[in-house]
Amino acid sequence: MKPRVSIGVQWALRYTVALLVTVSVFGVFTYTQIARRTESDARLVLELQVNEVAVHAAAGEPDAMAETIERGIASADPELKLGFALFDTDGNLIVARGSLALYPTPLPEGVLAGEDQSGADQVEVGENYPYLVMAVRAPPGFVQGAIYTRPFVRNARDVRDIYLYSLPVLLLVTAGLGYALARGSLRPLAEMNATARHISGANLEERIPTTGSGDELDELAATLNEMIARIGRSVQRARRFSGNAAHELRTPLNALRSRLEVTLEQPRDAEEARKALAETAAEVEGLSNIVHAMMRLAQSEAGLAPEQRSPVDLSSLLREVVAFFAPLAEEAEVELVTELGDPVWVPGDPSWLHELFANLLDNAIKYTPGGGRVEVTIERQVDAVIIRIRDEGIGIPPEDLTRIFEPFHRVGDRSMAPGVGLGLPISRELARAHGGELQVESRPGEGTTFLVRLPGS
Ligand code: ADP
Repeated sequence: MKPRVSIGVQWALRYTVALLVTVSVFGVFTYTQIARRTESDARLVLELQVNEVAVHAAAGEPDAMAETIERGIASADPELKLGFALFDTDGNLIVARGSLALYPTPLPEGVLAGEDQSGADQVEVGENYPYLVMAVRAPPGFVQGAIYTRPFVRNARDVRDIYLYSLPVLLLVTAGLGYALARGSLRPLAEMNATARHISGANLEERIPTTGSGDELDELAATLNEMIARIGRSVQRARRFSGNAAHELRTPLNALRSRLEVTLEQPRDAEEARKALAETAAEVEGLSNIVHAMMRLAQSEAGLAPEQRSPVDLSSLLREVVAFFAPLAEEAEVELVTELGDPVWVPGDPSWLHELFANLLDNAIKYTPGGGRVEVTIERQVDAVIIRIRDEGIGIPPEDLTRIFEPFHRVGDRSMAPGVGLGLPISRELARAHGGELQVESRPGEGTTFLVRLPGS
């Protein structure tokens, strides 16, 4: 397993690297800028001084020249160690003042030959003393000036040293702050983690604490809470379903067992045994119908695979379903009326849609007394098709209108009517599998309308 590095430490490192890069770039930039400025400042001071002396030299004013030299040396910052030297045409030193008297420096060959008038050169004087030395032709000879550059360079070095010495402290402070800030803003995550550890199938009541700040972590906590609530509802539904299923299966199974026990207790003749077996077979079929319906519910809940979809003409599909139930309606003396019109195409699975409408029509006929009417109609809308199955039956009380879609729920004493209570939940899932919905409207004693809304093609 990889060693665990906490997010706090990761962020501390990231902040530190970010600061290191920023300060280094900024430091190098500042240092080079200051160094460049310093160099040009030193050059400027020297050029001014040397040119002023050279002007007097060229003008043949030895007194003014000497005075300019003395004044320059006296008025300049002593740290700059200004120095002057005068040379004759052959490059022999005539007189030197200031630093050039202490550290005489020969004229550059280029200047002597009259080729190079370019200005100052950096020269090491004595041991490790950086001077900027400049010589210009000032007929009849040459004027040389020198300036100590360390005071200028020192500024740039000071700035560089400040950066270098403060950097480790800055990095340490940033790492510490980064760690503390990351820890602070990640505290809700630790709480989420702790709560999530407690949550299990048996304990879905707990919720992750939210701070109400509305930030990303708070949003995540709210989303997780919604998810836990959804899972809680599914778990509850699954528990209720398995409890009801066990109950539904237990009653007929008990009856079956007692019948078999009674039958086995005494010797029976062949006719009696055949009758008992026939009754047993009917009960087993009832049980197998319940199990089959439970499997259908699970299948329809899983939804429709894309390859199961093909264009289905609802109008002719409903005609087939109605034709199938016509004998049953006739037997129950229920009038079956349709208003189906031209073909209406929807994407779906014909057998699933057949089952959906068969369930609804079966109920409508089953719960409508003789002499009543059941109507099947199609309404075309812009982006949907609405199928209504309206009956003039006994109706459904308002308090049962939502519950009839729950597995195994049957209204009042109508549990006597054949059925398991899975037809409507299956039908609703079949409608949903087609991207549609199943709704009901009913008035007890007047009738019920089931409405299937399917998206059009
Ligand atoms: P069942 O197998 O009992 O018919 P369903 O899920 O199809 O199960 O229906 C659930 C209950 O809803 C039924 O037991 C019945 O009480 C009620 N119901 C369904 N359709 C109608 C209807 N058209 N008119 C009156 N009651 C209905």
